[in-house]
Amino acid sequence: MSSHLLHPITRRSLMGGVAATSALVMLHPFAARAQANQAHLRIMETTDIHVHVFPYDYYGDKPNDTMGLARTASIVDSIRAEAGNSMLIDNGDFLQGNPMGDYIAYERGMKEGDQHPVVKAMNVLGYDAGTLGNHEFNYGLDFMFKVLSGAGFPYVCANLTKGQLASDPKQDELFFKPYVILEKQIRDGSGAKSPVKVGFIGFVPPQIMLWDAKHLESKAQTRDIVDAAKAWVPAMKEEGADIIVALSHSGIDGSGMTERMENASLYLAGVDGIDAVFTGHQHLVFPGPKDFEGIAGADAVKGTLMGKPAVMAGFWGSHMGLIDLLLEKDGNSWKIVDFTTEARPIYHRDADRKVVADVEDKPEVLAAAKEDHEATLAYVRRPVGKSSAPLYSYFALVADDPSVQIVSNAQTWYIKNMLKDGEYKGYPVLSAAAPFKAGGRGGPDYYTDVPAGDIAIKNVADLYLYPNTVQAVLITGEQVKNWLEMSAGMFNQVEPGAKDAPLINAGFPSYNFDVIDGVTYQIDLSQPARFDKDGQLVNADANRIVDLQFQGKPIDATQKFVVVTNNYRAGGGGKFPEIASDKVIFVAPDTNRDVVVRYIVDQGTINPSADANWSFKPMDDTTAIFETGPKGRQFASEVKGAKIEDAGDGAEGFAKYRLVL
Ligand code: MN
Ligand code: MG
Repeated sequence: MSSHLLHPITRRSLMGGVAATSALVMLHPFAARAQANQAHLRIMETTDIHVHVFPYDYYGDKPNDTMGLARTASIVDSIRAEAGNSMLIDNGDFLQGNPMGDYIAYERGMKEGDQHPVVKAMNVLGYDAGTLGNHEFNYGLDFMFKVLSGAGFPYVCANLTKGQLASDPKQDELFFKPYVILEKQIRDGSGAKSPVKVGFIGFVPPQIMLWDAKHLESKAQTRDIVDAAKAWVPAMKEEGADIIVALSHSGIDGSGMTERMENASLYLAGVDGIDAVFTGHQHLVFPGPKDFEGIAGADAVKGTLMGKPAVMAGFWGSHMGLIDLLLEKDGNSWKIVDFTTEARPIYHRDADRKVVADVEDKPEVLAAAKEDHEATLAYVRRPVGKSSAPLYSYFALVADDPSVQIVSNAQTWYIKNMLKDGEYKGYPVLSAAAPFKAGGRGGPDYYTDVPAGDIAIKNVADLYLYPNTVQAVLITGEQVKNWLEMSAGMFNQVEPGAKDAPLINAGFPSYNFDVIDGVTYQIDLSQPARFDKDGQLVNADANRIVDLQFQGKPIDATQKFVVVTNNYRAGGGGKFPEIASDKVIFVAPDTNRDVVVRYIVDQGTINPSADANWSFKPMDDTTAIFETGPKGRQFASEVKGAKIEDAGDGAEGFAKYRLVL
């Protein structure tokens, strides 16, 4: 037997950068302690893999140590070895979410007999069961079923029906088995083997009917997660399940149970008969110190929901979720007498926040998807669409800009489709987007610069740097104006008649310079900023935003607008006045980056020419100086809505320009 030294948690802190393939295996205390009538059963979770098999960021076209099923897989063997008995499940969202997923869906397709790379990789690991996440539906039902047919393990989902819901949930016509009961031979403390019946029941967020309406409308329906559990769990008991485990592709939300709740795992855990809950969907970590403190019914230290063991294993393979059960024979059945939970990471950050890999790749997993990985590399590097104009961000702070325009075009296209049949369909849609790559501390080459012509997927990372998700808020015309007033904090106040005044407020990050598309406006630099950097009103009489118009008329301060943006801004990021989660009317499951990719694939040729919907208010005899990348010189004369002159070299490799106001 292997050496039994430390509790796994102690071991993790000692591991540092040491590869987990070392021969040292620390037995879980339950495995060491199990008596003759007791057995240790460890159930391992992967969740929200999103096609990340290789530890590789395809957008950046570079390796990345924070992700990859090949990494998580490499600790499966040692994690199994720590346990008396073990099982492995996947909790959904494996099929979409990186360019490898898009490559298979949009380019290669799934022909009869084809195996999807993420399924090939999962088949290497010996999963016992899986459930579906919302993203499994992004490419349509036919595609999903072709992919799933290659999996060497069963999928369960208790709340996805073919069309209408039955009056009794147990009469629902389901696409999948609601649950499976797997009879597993387990070894008890004396070494004797006997069977335990472990039931797995799966749940998907009911919101797939909204998020993937175009694929699911009239073909499917979803039932409330807790309602489905209450119907099927007693049937699992009747069929003889000793232990019932929920595979809940749904997060943890303590704000009270509501009908068709998206993140229902806390209340699911409260359903009688459920013994343990694997969660996911939110891309967070449970148990753990950060993500779920102060939720009544959730213990983020012990890892329990309603007193039952629960775990959420991050995303993209960042963690493996572990629920360890100490089982005891109870007549012919087994009961749980103790448990622990853990979310074990594949990397940590050192004192400088630098990522350090804790594990190596599992070669068999890499080998399973190697050809698809290479095809994906070719895919991200080759054109998938065309742009009729160059995409650059050199002048994004002084004029409406093509790199920001394309993001707003894509966001508007997306949200209009999402809201078209719901209660917000009648509202005008605006879009907020900011330049992410705009020099600054990134240096004089840190700009988006994609020539007209072919656009490759990896260029999209240039257009949308952060893995934000789409959200929309419903706000008034006055709040739209104040949003823009806050953005205008990007600039210093400029005295009328000033020569070469410094334009840019260096303390204001470019990612907070939101341009709002769908309205037209000017920025009056002669005024002081209306808000300070914390969104506090400091100059009540100041109005930098002038001539703010919607459809050619002055904006109505009381009219309501839908503004599509990202989760950062909608959640209050940047402290924009009154922009916070109470204004949010739509929380998308999709990243802004995915939306840009889909938009390009959908449109074929995109026209990112900026529509010059904003400009500076003219000021007689006034000029201001700003710096940008020297490669912007070739575009300076074609910038619409701003007169820009070369003003020589700036500091540290930047070039200086003069803005003639
Ligand atoms: Mn996910
Ligand atoms: Mg999800």
